[in-house]
Parts: sequence; structure tokens; C-alpha cells
Amino acid sequence: MDILVINCGSSSLKFQLIDVETEEVIVKGICERIGIENSRFVFQASGRNTVDLDISMKNHADSMKILLTYLTDPQHGVISSLNEIAAVGHRVVHGGERFASSTIIDETVIKAIEECAELAPLHNMANLTGILACQEMMPDTPMVAVFDTAFHQTMPEEAYLYGIPFSYYEKYKIRKYGFHGTSHAYVADRTAKILRKDSKELKLIVCHLGNGASITAVKHGKSVDTSMGLTPLEGLIMGTRSGDIDPSVLEYIGHKEHKNLEELMKVLNQSSGLLGLSGGVSSDFRDIATAYEKGDSNAIRALNAFNYRVAKYIGAYAAAMNGVDAICFTAGIGENSALVRELICNYLTYLGVFLDHDKNEIRGKEQIITSDQSKVKVVVIPTNEELMIARETYQKITEL
Ligand code: ADP
Repeated sequence: MDILVINCGSSSLKFQLIDVETEEVIVKGICERIGIENSRFVFQASGRNTVDLDISMKNHADSMKILLTYLTDPQHGVISSLNEIAAVGHRVVHGGERFASSTIIDETVIKAIEECAELAPLHNMANLTGILACQEMMPDTPMVAVFDTAFHQTMPEEAYLYGIPFSYYEKYKIRKYGFHGTSHAYVADRTAKILRKDSKELKLIVCHLGNGASITAVKHGKSVDTSMGLTPLEGLIMGTRSGDIDPSVLEYIGHKEHKNLEELMKVLNQSSGLLGLSGGVSSDFRDIATAYEKGDSNAIRALNAFNYRVAKYIGAYAAAMNGVDAICFTAGIGENSALVRELICNYLTYLGVFLDHDKNEIRGKEQIITSDQSKVKVVVIPTNEELMIARETYQKITEL
């Protein structure tokens, strides 16, 4: 049974067609620079040459049309009719308190996603555009929304409330929501399988370290705390985002540099993190790592701060769960950088973490990277949000 997974950004549409029975990716690709000049369509069918085209796409509806045409194209296609697609799973960033699990999309759900867009305007509206474009082309195919925030809805009140007047929560639902939930859930599940344990017996700390980065305490299979907040700005130091900061810094810089709140938020979202701390070396971790290896003091400063913040959160979450059985690394940096994993684990000997340096040399592969004596295991798990979305979608439509 084939499930189409759609992940829409403001100017991109990523897709995968997955056979949920074999979990094989039949085709994957991306529509890039939608609504901008030089838009591009990449379509990679398993075992075939990649189609890579410069093709005009004025909006997400155009991209959907091109994608669906290619899926059924006699030469490049992988299915003979769109009826072979059993359902479409859409990634939706913010589900607020309304969605603690994935849901079949209907008019009420579309309205609720629109309402949640107040909390993540760019993301949710882009996700919604993808849903509407898809519904237009495939009106009879069931669609499921899978939310980045849903996995974290199990957090207890003491973890999700901010120390501000409670009336702001009551009036506006200002609280920590957390993101990357699909990834954290997938990695926690895979870790339990690798450790041959029931997830209900485990206390895990999942470090999703990509361009956006977050860390989650997963106790007995449930998220009990996570580093991102009302928005994906809180928590770890990221590619261009600051992570945690004293809000008074905004007032101070605003006063000194005559910037308004909107400009200051742009600084925190777009010119901070690794990019800002390295004095402009790069937001891309690979550039930072290359400069670090050459002894560049800007890159050393940025990388040290990045690692320190992760180690500090691991300590906090081990305390929050009164222990930890395993620490998991995932996403672009977590899956690939032996250097970051080693430098973070150097902070964790007090927990009884002992890295096996040879095993740590792997990239993008599931592996336990601690020695047999290590009290707390450290594992590398390549994330697979698309597969998780396909599984959730399949589960929802079989409940129909
Ligand atoms: P996002 O989905 O948030 O864009 P990713 O999970 O794709 O993020 O991670 C992107 C980050 O991973 C970038 O900083 C990139 O430099 C880093 N990365 C990707 N591949 C490697 C690699 N082989 N070694 C080290 N870092 C890598």
C-alpha cells in the first residue's frame, strides 16, 4: 500500500512515496524555489536516473500538479494511476494543544490548523497550502495531518509552563510546545529496539542536532520535557537561532542599536547561533567543523558553546527523569559528526558514559557507540520523519 508523504515549506515541497508494507521508498524528491525564479524539480525513483529540471512553479498547486504528473508519467513514473496512492500524510508544524496525535484531515481540522498558525505563521500556512493543493488534485484520497508538536503533548504542567503570569496561558495558551516530535518519537522507538528493551522501561535523552536542534527527555516512551518552546527559537544553539537567552538582552540591544522588536527577533532567528557566534564563518556545521579542525578561533568558540549547551541540557534531563539509560544522537550533525558526539560525551563521564572511539567513527548508521562497561549507552540513530509520517497515516486510515 503506497502512502505519499508531503512536507511543505514556504517555498519548497519535499515528497516521498512509501510502500508501508515493505517500508521501501519508491520515489523521493523536492520542488524548490516555488514562487521564485529558477524553481527546480528533483524526482528520484529507486533504481532509476534522477530527474532534475528547471521548471516554473508559481505556487504549491503548480508543484503538486508537476509531482502528480511525474508519478504517473509513462516514462519516469512509478504508478499507473493516482488511485494507487492509498492516502497522503502531511507534516504540520504546530498543532497547539488541540492535537495530541495525528488526525484525518477534514474541514474542522483545516480550520484548527489555521488557528494554530498564530503560533507558527510561516510554517503552518505553508503546510496548509500543501494540503489544499493536494486536496484539489486528489479530492477522494484520505489525507492525514502529522504534527511536530503532538509527541510533546504528554509533558507535565511543570515542564511546559513558563514562569510568567498564569493568565497568559489561560488567555493565549502561552506555553512550551516543543517541535521535531516525529523525529524524537522515531528515534526513541528505534533505540528501544536496538537495546532490546520495552520503551516503557527506558529513560532516554534524544538529541536531534540539525540546522534546527532540539533535545527531549523521553520517559517510558513519553516526552516529559523538550528544549524548544512556544516556537522553535528556544533551547539549544542552532545554525542561525540563538536558543535560550535572557529576554533583557533584547531590550538592551534594541536601545543601543535602535532596533525594533521585529528586527531583534530577526537577529535571534537568522543571524545568531553558530553563524553569529562564529562571527559569520557559517551556519552550516560542516564549514564550522572544517574551520575548527584548522584551529580557527571563531569556529572553536562557536562549536564549544554549541556542545556545552547540549551537555547542560543532558544534565538537566537526567535530573528531570531521575536517571537516564541511553542518550541518542540524530539529524544532520548528530548522525554524522563523530567530533560533536565525542566532545559532548566528554562532559558526561559523571553519568558513567564511556565512548568507544572506533565505534563512534560511524556516519549515518544505527549503532551503539559506547563501550560494554558504559553505564549509560550512547546510540546513533538516523532519523526518518517521512517513514514515521507514512506509518502514522497508514494507522489512521486503517482505523476508518
Ligand atoms: P534541517 O533538517 O534542520 O535542515 P539537517 O538534519 O539536514 O537539518 O542537518 C543539517 C546540518 O547537518 C547542517 O549544519 C550540516 O552541516 C550538518 N551535516 C550534514 N551532513 C554532515 C556531515 N556529513 N558531517 C557533519 N555535519 C553534517
